[in-house]
Amino acid sequence: MTLPADYHMHTPLCRHATGEPVEYAAQALQVGLTEIGFTDHSPMWRDDFDNWRMRLDQLDEYVEKVRHAQREFPQLTIRLSLEVDYFPTRVDWVRDLAARHPWDYLIGSVHYISDAWDIDNPEKVSQWRNHPPDEVWEAYFERLTCAASSGLFEIIGHAGLPKKFGFYPQRDLTPVFRRFLEAAKSTGTAIELNTAGLRKDCKEIYPSRHILKLARETGVPITFGSDAHAPGEVGADLAQAVSLAREAGYTRCLRFDQRKRTEVDIA
Ligand SMILES: [Zn+2]
Ligand SMILES: [Zn+2]
Repeated sequence: MTLPADYHMHTPLCRHATGEPVEYAAQALQVGLTEIGFTDHSPMWRDDFDNWRMRLDQLDEYVEKVRHAQREFPQLTIRLSLEVDYFPTRVDWVRDLAARHPWDYLIGSVHYISDAWDIDNPEKVSQWRNHPPDEVWEAYFERLTCAASSGLFEIIGHAGLPKKFGFYPQRDLTPVFRRFLEAAKSTGTAIELNTAGLRKDCKEIYPSRHILKLARETGVPITFGSDAHAPGEVGADLAQAVSLAREAGYTRCLRFDQRKRTEVDIA
């Protein structure tokens, strides 16, 4: 089986990942990948916003690290991209970032459901005990729906992140999921099968099988990503993600070059 492109990985600039891009690239070749994309956590409009991303004055260094990996590994296709946090009141910031470098694609992710709570932050897991999961899931998907509607991103990151620590909604949120997927469909935005969930308490790919089947019904395209935060995680469980995609009825996925898409068969 040929693995699909691994379109989600980080660098040490985000302060919670290890290994240089050249090491990720070497590992990619080792596990038989032919294409990867770096998508480190983008800077915020304020460098003191949180402590798990690069500062704005490191953005050029990030680009240079990825360019260096491209020069060292010409036999591997290496995309230059970002994982951008979506805030409904900060779309101008996304446009600003988008214009700074010739990105191959942008992943739009929701980690924050308010300026104060990044729901996947292990240091804030206690917050989950003060908030009913239904409320968190709905707030999360409301933001994700706005992100998908915005058309600012090629890919929506890890849709279903609230399951990370194993807090699940009581209600059936199928209508909420559908609204998100309709928004993605209307702007042609893809969702990713992100295998990092398999390494978390939820022990499941993002999104769930249920959401992925709805996505397939709705006609939302897909990409794949390991969300590697260390070289050893590059390509992790992509074969399992491919099986899940096939099970949901997918036979094609997307590649991006300079924010232009091509559709390819999932081998
Ligand atoms: Zn991260
Ligand atoms: Zn993320």
